[in-house]
Amino acid sequence: MYRSEKTSPKTYSGFLMTTKSDALLLFVSLFLFISLFLYGCGNGEPESNDDRPFVVTTTNLIRDVVENVGGEDVRFVSLMGPGVDPHVYRATPRDFRRMEQSDLVLYNGLYLEGRLSEILDRLGDQSRAVTGSIPREKLIDATDFGGAYDPHVWFDAELWTYVVMDVRDALTRLLPEGEEDFFRRAEEYKKELMELHEYAKQRIQSIPEERRIMITAHDAFQYFGRAYGIEVRGLQGLSTATEFGIQDVTRMVSLIIERNIPAIFIETGVSTRAIESVLTGVRDRGYQVQLGGSLFSDSMGAPGTPEGTYAGMFRHNVETIVQALSEELQPSL
Ligand SMILES: [Zn+2]
Repeated sequence: MYRSEKTSPKTYSGFLMTTKSDALLLFVSLFLFISLFLYGCGNGEPESNDDRPFVVTTTNLIRDVVENVGGEDVRFVSLMGPGVDPHVYRATPRDFRRMEQSDLVLYNGLYLEGRLSEILDRLGDQSRAVTGSIPREKLIDATDFGGAYDPHVWFDAELWTYVVMDVRDALTRLLPEGEEDFFRRAEEYKKELMELHEYAKQRIQSIPEERRIMITAHDAFQYFGRAYGIEVRGLQGLSTATEFGIQDVTRMVSLIIERNIPAIFIETGVSTRAIESVLTGVRDRGYQVQLGGSLFSDSMGAPGTPEGTYAGMFRHNVETIVQALSEELQPSL
């Protein structure tokens, strides 16, 4: 979001002048002003006359939970927007300002936000990892990733309900009088997540068994694979900060040909270089593999689009996977 202190004086001068360009400027300024006013309500920088608790989230996935549970009772903003990669994200001066002004900073934890961990630690009780109350035995071990757990828990919708409860409790501590509303909204949201969970299970199981394998650049979908019964292979490991090598590509190319895998996937916010190498490798060996489309991995889509919510993002991924893997791979020539 961009604040536009600078546009206000121009708006005023636009009123006084009557040339075409000034009229256009006036129109644009008014549009900006109105948009900012509407957008600024409940979802942005704290207004000085707004005394609702101000919650900052790192990813927009967590913001979606705050929005669903907190409703109009809290103000919230996420530091990372659509297509932003949390593994390598560094805080901007504006992020520091927002975190300072906030009452609570909610982050994923499990080293997802690797480069923010120092700042988040420094915030002490003012920050909270929303994955903290997920039973450890439900987490996927990832000892090759800093001796920790796989952080991509949002791809198991049932597991994500723990995050909903965690956010609900954190908001209740922040605003005890909101307890009843937070609990009610959390229950509704959990119900929606469980419906998504069942839907995903059914849709993924509709893919012929031998083709139930998804190949992506980075390994964001292990929870998804475990929950919905699809094998998942990532080229880059759990973090996009890990490089992939020529051997990884060769191994993946052989796997695609041996298993007759029809499609591989790119991810929003992740470089397509890795997946393109695999694509070229398969074609060089005389086979065809399709790009199955783009999956949202570590962020949701833009606000106002169907993929701009957790549920919409999740459905997009499921439908993209089902559609792409339902076609067969044919040897070319
Ligand atoms: Zn990731």
